[in-house]
Amino acid sequence: MKKIISITKGDGVGPEVIDEALKILHIIEKYRDFTFDLQEAPAGGAVWKETGTNLPEKSWNTIINSDALLFGAIGLPDLPQGIAESAILKIRQGLDLYVNLRPIKLYDPLRDRCPLKEEYIGKGIDITIIRENTEGLYANIGGILKDEVAMNSMVYTRNGCERVIRYAFETAKSRKHKKITSVDKANILKPSQLWRKIFEEIGKKFTDLEQENIYVDAFCQWLIRAPYSYETVVTGNLFGDIISDEGAFLIGSLGMASSGNIHPGKVSMYEPIHGSAPDIAGKNVANPIGAILSVKLMMEESFKSPELAHSIENAVEDALKEGRTVDIKSNELPVLSTKEMGDLICKKMQSSLKK
Ligand code: ATP
Repeated sequence: MKKIISITKGDGVGPEVIDEALKILHIIEKYRDFTFDLQEAPAGGAVWKETGTNLPEKSWNTIINSDALLFGAIGLPDLPQGIAESAILKIRQGLDLYVNLRPIKLYDPLRDRCPLKEEYIGKGIDITIIRENTEGLYANIGGILKDEVAMNSMVYTRNGCERVIRYAFETAKSRKHKKITSVDKANILKPSQLWRKIFEEIGKKFTDLEQENIYVDAFCQWLIRAPYSYETVVTGNLFGDIISDEGAFLIGSLGMASSGNIHPGKVSMYEPIHGSAPDIAGKNVANPIGAILSVKLMMEESFKSPELAHSIENAVEDALKEGRTVDIKSNELPVLSTKEMGDLICKKMQSSLKK
């Protein structure tokens, strides 16, 4: 099967972690019936400095003509915030990537890296957060009047809510405990009231699932006190941005967290959730696992290969028992560089695919 993958390595640690993720794609090509045509689509701060745009037309054309986009991280410390980063919003809006999928999974070997007490970790953390990715306050409808008044409108449309909530119900159906939690602020906000109504309407078609609504302020507290009690969580754009970062903090390091920006059946974008991390860029110390697990999501969502997704995840979990990058270091295990961590995961993956 031939697939075109556009590659945006980006700035800072972006190229370092993406190079490790590419090694995984090469292993897949070697042992399974996939051929990947990798096409570079430069974007971000360095490109802005060279060309005056953070997403050149050539890169955009490469992206829209591919099957999926693997994205590193963008942003440079000597550029004002947003100059490079707005390329991500252009891609999300331009491709109508309405699902932001953010798994929050604490791998067993990293339990000691979780900042929560054992009793709060309980039987483990394995939550799929699904954030609406195109509407809400981030629809960017608003303005500033004479530096005195500023406003943004919180836009929720029926279609926008329905499509992401339906996706979340389908996801919840495929998971072990068949439980879905909707996070909103329906006691105060009108858009949240529409959201909740639609969640309950759609929920009537999924009677075999356990369903609950919770206000975002209460959820932020329960995510810390009882993270084991959540499985699939669906929410709007602003709340999703905040709670998924809170969740990422629970799994050991920002460098572990992966994400998908998805429009089912169309070109979707996969990226580690961390930024360009200029403080550690160029040192071969960044954790490549967030980028590697983003390839796992690509296999699952865009290329419909649960087998490959599992083998990537198992390889990561096995590798964590033998070595660690510095952000997740353990006294008992060797500290690995970015490249060494990537190689170890590839070795694990290779031996599982050879079987
Ligand atoms: P952005 O606003 O672009 O998302 P940020 O300001 O949230 O970026 P990051 O660039 O993600 O910040 O970095 C935050 C901290 O996490 C930094 O100290 C950085 O070194 C660390 N960090 C980020 N990514 C990794 C990684 N892959 N491995 C190890 N540490 C990382």
